[in-house]
Amino acid sequence: MKTTLSEDLYERAARVMVGGVSSPVRAFKAVGGTPIFMASGRGSTIRDVDGNAYIDYVCSWGPMILGHSNPAVVKAVLAAVKRGTSFGAPTVPELRLAEKVCSAIPSMEKVRFVNSGTEATMSALRLARAYTSRTKLLKFDGCYHGHADPFLTHAGSGLATLDLPSSGGVPGYIGADAITVPYNDVPAVENAFRLHGPEIAAAIVEPVAGNMGVVVPEPGFLEAVRKLCTQHGSLLIFDEVITGFRVAPGGAQKLYGIRPDITCLGKIIGGGFPVGAYGARREVMQMVAPEGPVYQAGTLAGNPVAMAAGLATLSLLDQETYRRLEDRSARLEEGLKHEAASAGLQIRINRVGSMVGLFFGSKEVRNFEAAKGTRFKLYAGFHRSMLEEGVYLPPSAFETLFVSAAHTGGDIDRTIESAGRAFRKVPR
Ligand SMILES: *Cc1c(COP(=O)(O)O)cnc(C)c1O
Repeated sequence: MKTTLSEDLYERAARVMVGGVSSPVRAFKAVGGTPIFMASGRGSTIRDVDGNAYIDYVCSWGPMILGHSNPAVVKAVLAAVKRGTSFGAPTVPELRLAEKVCSAIPSMEKVRFVNSGTEATMSALRLARAYTSRTKLLKFDGCYHGHADPFLTHAGSGLATLDLPSSGGVPGYIGADAITVPYNDVPAVENAFRLHGPEIAAAIVEPVAGNMGVVVPEPGFLEAVRKLCTQHGSLLIFDEVITGFRVAPGGAQKLYGIRPDITCLGKIIGGGFPVGAYGARREVMQMVAPEGPVYQAGTLAGNPVAMAAGLATLSLLDQETYRRLEDRSARLEEGLKHEAASAGLQIRINRVGSMVGLFFGSKEVRNFEAAKGTRFKLYAGFHRSMLEEGVYLPPSAFETLFVSAAHTGGDIDRTIESAGRAFRKVPR
């Protein structure tokens, strides 16, 4: 595989851009080699500037549930661009997307659009603090809620990838307001509420964790967090930035039958454009300006091009799409397990629908501690071998593989065959 153009571009990029990238994990630090510059994508396949093609399991870190350059999404976006790219005033696509989101997710009676998942979670916490007149935040080890100050201790995603326990530049008093407990650990949650209950404004959780690899909520875990929040007058925030419209149209809250107080969305609802959203029941949302005192605003929020992309994407997500996503992802899971076993390699796969988490090692992974206890160092070589095979995996062992509706059975079979060869190269 020749990647000379990517290497030259990366050298140029590293001179003028931090780490040569716009977001840390993209720099390939955890897997080695230089990041690959992408030129185009169609369906399940992306092409780099050197002309190599890859079956894509990053899918822009989640948003591209329909694959790349879906014709209906492209058409909607082009039409929106021709009408005008931004007005800073209400538009019809924005209204229609709001109606669509609120009808798919009944706990969201009202919604506010923002430009990223980070903005959604940051604003949701501000709202919860205002609503409860409390300051403390309960969160979970290895979950990632974007890069706002309060969420940057013991977080997953890039901080896990770079092995950063917290971030520089976050004042100690902000970190001190966060109580972090292990995922899937009900006694730890009970204990946190016993010690700090009257001060906890909100508990925030990824209802399926997707930023420490994939970690599945055990039966009773989300139920217990819900119950304790209700008992102590704290709000429950579901960070469904990944899971919203990914694991089911109604998100993980629909899948598991739990009603959070506030929901955060992002990724898929922007159809490949920068969009986030948060929403809750009317009584909570009326705290937000201009209805209430919680200030939150955005010059490009509800951007009509982004709204059109989101709307076109959500319109194509029917039951058949989710059935196909489940079918392809289950086939990938089974295939990977089978190939690993015949290569004499122990792996673990955690999967909910089209969120697939691959861990090296034999132990069950039910929290961040366990994820860090896997043989994640083996991932770098595996990642490299898969690139050579024409399969683009996330450049970190602590991220999710996303299957899209554009992945064909043939794509999955080719991926499994490639993994078979790549597993055999992994040192025992
Ligand atoms: C990606 C992500 C975010 C942050 O969204 P950005 O758009 O990257 O700011 C927040 N929460 C979760 C669960 C995410 O996966």
